[in-house]
Amino acid sequence: MKKIEEETKIYQKYDLDNALKKAYVVAIKNTEFKKLINTLKVKENIAINYTSKLENTVEELSNCAKCKSLFECKNKVTGFVNYPKFENDQLIFNYVACKYQKKELADLENIKTNFYEMPLEIRKAKMSDIDVNDSKRVKIIKWLTKFYETYQKDKKQKGLYLHGSFGSGKTYLLSALLNELSKLNNTVLIIYYPELLRSLKESFDNNNFGNRINEIKKADLLLLDDIGAETVTPWNRDEILGTILQYRMDNKLSTFFTSNLTIKELENHFMNNKTSGEQIKARRIIERIKHLTESEELISENRRG
Ligand code: ADP
Ligand code: MG
Repeated sequence: MKKIEEETKIYQKYDLDNALKKAYVVAIKNTEFKKLINTLKVKENIAINYTSKLENTVEELSNCAKCKSLFECKNKVTGFVNYPKFENDQLIFNYVACKYQKKELADLENIKTNFYEMPLEIRKAKMSDIDVNDSKRVKIIKWLTKFYETYQKDKKQKGLYLHGSFGSGKTYLLSALLNELSKLNNTVLIIYYPELLRSLKESFDNNNFGNRINEIKKADLLLLDDIGAETVTPWNRDEILGTILQYRMDNKLSTFFTSNLTIKELENHFMNNKTSGEQIKARRIIERIKHLTESEELISENRRG
């Protein structure tokens, strides 16, 4: 019984070797495939075991040869080629960054912004990637460009209160500006405001709390993203937001906001009820925001897929 099993194994192995050889003979007729084998300096008896993976590499490299940007990448993992290294009589396949991906990674490394709960595309945002075809953005882009230039001469610049429709690119545009300024060694903080409040509430009792608030107060440039989407309490409005804004106002630190609400709507949002006490407190926050910023609106198509 055992003997038959062994024989079958030998037969199967023989069959497999043959099939591998056949596949390799076909593959090597392709000049690009041959080129790859030569570049790798891999012995034929080893390469033979990797024909289909090598063919995949050849296909990915040929995609790259025709490719003009990361957006049109056709490879399995965007921005990478599954490329082998010949080591210890084996081919070891790794995902190797293409030239566009390498540039993107280098750019990313230059961005020194600290982000709190922000998605990757916002972390990567840069001015040169801003799509300028949307006419509604032109005014905002001009504002950003001017800020970028004047800030380098004098840091005491008013920020922007950018409000408007959901998905119009408010967060992206401001992050692109601030990321550029972070490359010039300014301390930049971009914070998803509703989430910050949730986490501050939890960390209220520990040491981190004070450090966190200080960091937010003192950053050269601050973006409070999506203000107006939080649940307002007297504590987070007067103690947290009020304190941060007061400090930034007194020290003329550039501060930015994005919101789905106009300033007027934001004022109502800050009132928990219509008592005069609440009205005064809401008013006080709004005055600080107005003092810190200029206001622009961006109503545009929703870019979220
Ligand atoms: P908002 O803050 O106004 O709700 P976002 O800034 O989050 O909108 O933008 C919505 C989506 O569109 C995001 O995925 C963002 O990365 C993308 N986006 C916005 N503006 C641009 C741009 N100029 N170039 C490329 N992608 C953009
Ligand atoms: Mg946003």
